[in-house]
Amino acid sequence: MTRPRVGVLALQGDVREHARVLTGRGADVRLVRRPEDLAAVDALVLPGGESSVIDKLSRAFGMRDPLRAAIADGMPVLGTCAGLILLADRLEDGISGQQTFGGLDVTVRRNAFGSQTESFETDLDVPAVGSPPVHATFIRAPIVTAVGPSAEVIAQLPGGGIVGVRRGSIIGLSFHPELDDETRFHDLLLGAVRDA
Ligand code: GLN
Repeated sequence: MTRPRVGVLALQGDVREHARVLTGRGADVRLVRRPEDLAAVDALVLPGGESSVIDKLSRAFGMRDPLRAAIADGMPVLGTCAGLILLADRLEDGISGQQTFGGLDVTVRRNAFGSQTESFETDLDVPAVGSPPVHATFIRAPIVTAVGPSAEVIAQLPGGGIVGVRRGSIIGLSFHPELDDETRFHDLLLGAVRDA
């Protein structure tokens, strides 16, 4: 069968790391910077990086409305870290005027871990991807502070903090599977394309 065409939003952030994982899993990877790039893909990754910069650049490049429309039309999306922030319907501690694309009925708080723990790693039990546990790296990570009825929690820290959510084939993670050779979340995205 033909390879799923998967876009990585390439305005800022860890684009190459996602592209490498996706290529390794058999995707035909396209870097997405313009509306016509988005129109040519079956699924999309929103990378980690700086959500306020990606937000601003998306508006400067005329990408905000096409992205919102693609997500609303049901395009499968995986967002990691800044990507989770961009998928949240509601944002806490954004910079002045910061917007999100939305898509997940959740509230997300940026930079939710204090300076002592700006960055940390831990193992997470994530039933949606099975065993073994997910080795998760958090870097100035956001946390999900509220979950609406249409969103499902898929990953929590040992203390209960919500760090993974999904609505169907829209998945948002506080951590960075692309930095840890963790391919199972990208496989969920590719599976959603194959099922569509
Ligand atoms: N703190 C960043 C933001 O607000 C996210 C960090 C990351 O993607 N590693 O977008």
